[in-house]
Amino acid sequence: MTNNKMISIAKKRGYLYPSFEIYSGVAGFYDYGPLGSMLKNNILNLWRQYYTVQEGYYEIESPTVMPKEALKASGHVDNFTDPMTQCHDCQQVYRADHIIGEAINKEVEGLPDSKLTEIIAENNITCTECGGKLEDVYSYNLMFKTKIGANGKKIGYMRPETAQGIFIAFKRLARFYKDKLPFGVVQIGKAYRNELSPRQGMIRLREFTLAETEIFVDPTDKTTPKFDSIKNEKIKLFSQQLQEENKEAEYFTVKEALEQNIVPSEILAYQIYLAKTFLTEIGLPENKFRFRQNLPDERAHYALDCWDGEVETDEYGWIEILGIADRTDYDLSSHIKDSKEDLTIFKEYDTVKTVTKTVPIINNKNFGRTLKKDSTEAKEIIENTNPETIINSIKENGSYIITIGNNNYDIDETLITFETKKIEEKGEKVVPHVIEPSFGVDRIVYSLLLHSYTEDENEDKETRKYLRITPQIAPVKAVILPLVNKEELTTIAKDIEFETRKNNLITMYDVSGTIGRRYARSDEIGVPYAITIDYDSLEDKKVTIRSRDTLKQKRIFITEISKVLTDLLNNNIKFEEITE
Ligand code: AMP
Repeated sequence: MTNNKMISIAKKRGYLYPSFEIYSGVAGFYDYGPLGSMLKNNILNLWRQYYTVQEGYYEIESPTVMPKEALKASGHVDNFTDPMTQCHDCQQVYRADHIIGEAINKEVEGLPDSKLTEIIAENNITCTECGGKLEDVYSYNLMFKTKIGANGKKIGYMRPETAQGIFIAFKRLARFYKDKLPFGVVQIGKAYRNELSPRQGMIRLREFTLAETEIFVDPTDKTTPKFDSIKNEKIKLFSQQLQEENKEAEYFTVKEALEQNIVPSEILAYQIYLAKTFLTEIGLPENKFRFRQNLPDERAHYALDCWDGEVETDEYGWIEILGIADRTDYDLSSHIKDSKEDLTIFKEYDTVKTVTKTVPIINNKNFGRTLKKDSTEAKEIIENTNPETIINSIKENGSYIITIGNNNYDIDETLITFETKKIEEKGEKVVPHVIEPSFGVDRIVYSLLLHSYTEDENEDKETRKYLRITPQIAPVKAVILPLVNKEELTTIAKDIEFETRKNNLITMYDVSGTIGRRYARSDEIGVPYAITIDYDSLEDKKVTIRSRDTLKQKRIFITEISKVLTDLLNNNIKFEEITE
């Protein structure tokens, strides 16, 4: 199985290790070793090239610990749950929908806890470990709870996604972008989910890295000026219809996807295309990934549409590595409701509109006398209430009641009258909609390693195992190999390592073992080029450069090494084009 072979190399060669190994490990946590960290950083640097540099979405960094209020507003405190059931006898825990799905071969995701409990009883589903009775299903919240401060009164949670930090800072971010839509903000960082019983290695982690973008758009304008230049590009879509018809994913041009109403907006279609381009550039083979539209019962209730970037794996089938959703105004509206802050953008009309409006005229003297310190708040309430509601209430009951704290105020005609006026309106306040591409970075690293793993034959017709990571993303760009461990060769090799590193190229000096062993080792690490120094190098001042993927070799001058490597990495030349 490629998964197992890849994981074994990844552990052996310093990419990934299960965390806390010397204390028996804890499921759902992984360490990135020296090469893994570099690989992840290279992927993230390219991601930033796309989203921050090209798209112009600035990056922020907000805390990973969040107060309860913020996550209550976002819905996570109440709804970020999995249905859980536990064995009465051995206390083994299960995701109720999973254990039911496996037992009766039916999709039950999204059903209420009570219904799941019923299905377990009706079908006599028992613990798969000991056959014990399964207890009633209940909602298990996935967030890690903590306390902020010493007295323990302030509840906090480790953030389950990075997006909320952006929504909460919306007011300041909007100001940064001169209060003009559209604008985007990215955040890369750790997210925490206390997954029930993660048994899927790198796929289901309890601490993982997200790279999320929140693009704030005018709700009535989901077009993008970039659409025209990419409309004939192809994207592989597994639409709701194709899924329902039991078909495979199909290629559509971005334009077709839009015209056939498969994707609802230009900006969503553009984001799918952008994600595809990114995944291709980091080296994921195009035939191994697709974009699958979430079916209505999989989608969050507020999401207008959502597409998962999925990668095919031998161990876990198709896995979701990213999601691209139109989240409408759900997030900002939720925070407006709970924080009482104005998280809107003033959208100016192209031309000033004249409208007839009924406006409140407040008798300031009487108002101040009656409401005293609550005057300002009461005025705000009146301004935000439909005038008809107040007028009707005064007509029918003699007054309109406003409650502030413990006080009820009767607002009557001595305090407020209404006038119908012609008003010039320059614009209106809108709650922006959010388009969110959200990348699960660890799953991307996993998929990339998985599909980089290659077996073929080496020069001596032996099986050769290597990681075919694209040179741009590979952690180490070249291995420097003195043919034998003799000072006249090792000195040159060390100089080359020093010189190339000075030129911003990560290279690795290796002198231990036979040259064959060393090639094999660097292939397994996924180093794209090997530079070998032999006795001829002393005479002709040249070295041999070998390509990991084609095993072709060229002789180049020592003084040219950094330039040749840089050209190869920047795709300025192909290996075959190197002049000797
Ligand atoms: P979500 O907010 O659930 O849509 O997750 C966003 C992305 O995070 C997904 O597309 C996954 O790639 C990734 N992800 C979600 N849960 C986990 C997990 N437990 N471990 C690793 N990656 C995850």
